[in-house]
Amino acid sequence: MIDKLIAKMLPLFPEKLVWIFSKRYISGQYIEDALSESRKLNQNGIMVTVDLLGEYIQNLAEADVYKEQYIDLIRRFTAEKVNGNFSVKPSMFGLLLDSEACYHNLADIVEAADQCNSFIKIDMEDSECTTIELEIFRRLKTKFPRRVGIVVQAYMRRTLDDVKDLMDLHSPEAPLNFRLCKGIYIEDESIAYKKYQEIRDRYVEDMRFMLENGIYVGIATHDKYLIDKAYEIIEQLKVPKDKYEFQMLFGVAPKLRQSIVDRGHRIRVYVPFGKQWFNYSTRRLKENPNMVWHIIKAMFVRQ
Ligand SMILES: Cc1cc2nc3c(=O)[nH]c(=O)nc-3n(C[C@H](O)[C@H](O)[C@H](O)COP(=O)(O)OP(=O)(O)OC[C@H]3O[C@@H](n4cnc5c(N)ncnc54)[C@H](O)[C@@H]3O)c2cc1C
Repeated sequence: MIDKLIAKMLPLFPEKLVWIFSKRYISGQYIEDALSESRKLNQNGIMVTVDLLGEYIQNLAEADVYKEQYIDLIRRFTAEKVNGNFSVKPSMFGLLLDSEACYHNLADIVEAADQCNSFIKIDMEDSECTTIELEIFRRLKTKFPRRVGIVVQAYMRRTLDDVKDLMDLHSPEAPLNFRLCKGIYIEDESIAYKKYQEIRDRYVEDMRFMLENGIYVGIATHDKYLIDKAYEIIEQLKVPKDKYEFQMLFGVAPKLRQSIVDRGHRIRVYVPFGKQWFNYSTRRLKENPNMVWHIIKAMFVRQ
């Protein structure tokens, strides 16, 4: 009831007030905010992956601006010795306007990461983007074998086949590096699993395949059931601790996160920041009172 009331009144609220609902899930608006939260996480033994939030772009000039901002971000975090890497959304770099331009923008970003001895993870967006993103990833991984990884979504029916198709790029020296998540977009049943337990089962299947084949896996979930399954598989296959990591979103499930740290596993937190966050979350909050879901979703879904 309170959520619904707040959502209805939201257009009347000053921005600072809306921020109160959003800030738990975002490190802040400025690079300094992301730096400060990342340092705190590092001090607690947690790595980060930093995401600069952006709006859906209208032209490639905007993509250029985001590219330069990411390159600055990578250089700044490297200079500050933050233990972390970077997450990018290809649609911010022109994926749906001109996929070739998007490839070149991302190649410039991965090159900057290469020069800084860092790493770029390509977030996976909705199904309109999947094939193009995987193709771009293939080209980037061929050019920068140790500097780039991609997200795959357990709810997509195609995911295990996609992973197997990429195995020709996998080697002990430059393993494939995936983030495995459930998937956050609304997809049609013809291409995506919809039932809660079915998605979990596919997640476990994908994770097992990856760990059995020496693929580096970012186990991205707050679902305790999946975390326990991961422990079981890791134990059973005796997977070394440097061959996988757990991943969680900023502000979500801190107790569960700490329990993973306490067990001695590597864990990374996804740290979003940026001025655009505010516009994203305001719109989402106005549309639907289910606030937490929309705040989280706003980080991944383009307008
Ligand atoms: C590091 C990271 C990166 C991601 N990158 C992508 C991506 O590139 N593309 C993509 O499609 N999706 C991405 N996602 C989102 C992901 O696909 C899921 O939508 C999201 O993680 C929720 O799924 P879950 O596995 O946590 O399970 P759920 O079943 O959604 O959640 C399990 C439990 O975790 C707790 N929980 C979950 N969310 C919250 C919350 N917001 N606040 C409080 N408690 C919560 C609840 O107790 C819940 O019951 C990413 C997620 C993470 C962690």
